[in-house]
Amino acid sequence: SRPIASRRTGGTVKTADGLAIRLSAIINDPVEFKAIDSSSFAGIGLMRTEFLLTSAADAVDEARHYDIYRRALDWAGEAPVTVRMLDLGGDKTLPGLGAKKSESFMGLRGIRLLLARPELARAQARALLRAAVHGDLGVLLPMVTIPDEFDAMQAFFEEERAALVRRGLQARMPEIGIMVEVPAAALMLDRFSRSDFFSFGTNDLAQYLAAAARDDQSVSALYDAATPAVCRVIAQGVALAEAMKKPIGICGEMASDPWHIPALMAAGLRHFSVAPNRAADIRSTIGGLFSDGRAAAEVK
Ligand code: PEP
Ligand code: MG
Repeated sequence: SRPIASRRTGGTVKTADGLAIRLSAIINDPVEFKAIDSSSFAGIGLMRTEFLLTSAADAVDEARHYDIYRRALDWAGEAPVTVRMLDLGGDKTLPGLGAKKSESFMGLRGIRLLLARPELARAQARALLRAAVHGDLGVLLPMVTIPDEFDAMQAFFEEERAALVRRGLQARMPEIGIMVEVPAAALMLDRFSRSDFFSFGTNDLAQYLAAAARDDQSVSALYDAATPAVCRVIAQGVALAEAMKKPIGICGEMASDPWHIPALMAAGLRHFSVAPNRAADIRSTIGGLFSDGRAAAEVK
């Protein structure tokens, strides 16, 4: 097997002034593992799980979840794999789940739906707990608004871990972090002291800050114009996370767009999860910037 050091180097890129920036992959489908070279990434920063399932029955199929997480860990080798729990509702639905009006962007989606349907959360938690024995696995919770939601999910994990161990199965508590995509959470990260790490979901953060739906063409100009507000919230969040000594990164689409990288660097982000087919562009963009986001070529 390859040495860890060379894997990690593949997943970092140096700014013009020598600061190491981590680049992780976003994975939506396990078929991508064949085509993407894991040595160019610091593991998986976001693995969406709603796209891995085709029916409501899949959602509670613990063996199916477990198999997919094992494949992700095999692909990543020694590097971390961050799996996001089901983010159903809003723009992501499964037949029989997350399709009602009440499960829209402002309704019962993400962790709200998981806590309302504990059988979904518990099946996925068991698969994650068992897979965590086999590698560096982290878990992201989608659409968290208040710390109570984090605590409720963490309690599910603790109960399921104890139940697995009682059955004689191996289980390990993964690190659990939150998606920072609801403004009320983004502004209050210091209250999430039990979250192990944070990841900005700017696709949602932008729509909630601008009150402009991410899938509504008629307000896309407002959605796009909200990026300075998004970056200000990110900068505040980064400062709060640093004070808490907790890792913070970004996995929204802004991080896959070279245009936004200078502002995201200026906001203090040092870990970017990107669409694999955008990685080469992002790598060269970061290489041409100082760590404060200024273009190296323009600075005299
Ligand atoms: C986001 O909201 O930025 C994000 C990464 O999650 P999704 O696009 O799946 O909602
Ligand atoms: Mg989101």
